[in-house]
Amino acid sequence: MLQKTRNGKGKTVLVAGGAGFVGSHLCDALLARGDRVICVDSYITGSEDNVRPLANHPHFRLIEMDICVLESIDEPVNQIYNLACAASPPQYQADPVHTMMTCVAGTGNLLTLAERNGASFLQASTSEVYGDPVEHPQREDYRGNVNCTGPRACYDEGKRAAEALCFDMLRAGKVDARVARIFNTYGPRMQPHDGRIISNLLVQAISGEPLTIYGTGEQTRSFCFVSDLVAGLMALMDVDPNPEGPVNLGNPGEFTINELAAMVLDMVPAGGRIVHRPLPQDDPQRRRPDIARARELLGWQPKIPLSEGLRHTADWFVATLGEHPAAPHSSKARRPSPVPEIHAGA
Ligand code: UDP
Repeated sequence: MLQKTRNGKGKTVLVAGGAGFVGSHLCDALLARGDRVICVDSYITGSEDNVRPLANHPHFRLIEMDICVLESIDEPVNQIYNLACAASPPQYQADPVHTMMTCVAGTGNLLTLAERNGASFLQASTSEVYGDPVEHPQREDYRGNVNCTGPRACYDEGKRAAEALCFDMLRAGKVDARVARIFNTYGPRMQPHDGRIISNLLVQAISGEPLTIYGTGEQTRSFCFVSDLVAGLMALMDVDPNPEGPVNLGNPGEFTINELAAMVLDMVPAGGRIVHRPLPQDDPQRRRPDIARARELLGWQPKIPLSEGLRHTADWFVATLGEHPAAPHSSKARRPSPVPEIHAGA
């Protein structure tokens, strides 16, 4: 239970990235508690499918727009969640300049909108700000080990810059900004082909294909079920006073990729074989959140163990792949909007 809550129900809430995997679950939860939701999405990695059930909801509005070009909204808003950014490594690396500009220009645009509306703002940051961490588990005061010129930098450094923008706006008294550092999250509505470990392994196993493990499989991750994450995001947005620092949100249960693959094979025995592929550059070796801050400030901790969440997710993939065998992810594929030009010395 939330101990201290500030905003309560009945707000108008803008969710940027609201048609994405996490964003669409957040829209559901906000509507369920009685808020009005304006979902803004570019459909670059989000999908209309995720919000189609909400289309006729009287408190739901959908705006197709890239936050890189968002200037204003024609109605007042009380809260803004920024979840708009490709989040899986293959997807955020596919157009790295757009990823960086989404984090910086896009977040800047939304912060300006928050300032104009006097709205509270929650930035979806990431465990990737810790890079390939040398401190374990990761606490919020750890400054990280990021390769600022590597292929993950567009996301890691973009998210770090977005955090800096949020805390500058907060210090300046312009925006009530909050920052969640989100660790690996999974659940229904992940794109089957987003390239992430849980979607890859489940889809491969369900399709009877070999399971791909990059490197030795001894690297670790900590996996949080999406409903737990959404509860944490809402708690962070609503807690009073503003925590004035980043808050890790994730499940501290830590698993090697080999352990995860074994769990998937237990659950979906049709997929039998494991094949090894090269480890991507700068792939973090270990990752586990220290969530003491979230526990203390928000009274929040995850409830769903990996075995249970994986079962829900596998069931969802079975149903989804069954419905759309040839095109399991039917999002409208969009090219990113042109990013603002970067003028040297401007
Ligand atoms: N990985 C893997 N096989 C796959 C996809 C990913 O072994 O088919 C590994 C990847 O190299 C990383 C971990 O699984 O060590 C988690 O990868 P993911 O892309 O889900 O997210 P990350 O935590 O790296 O952002």
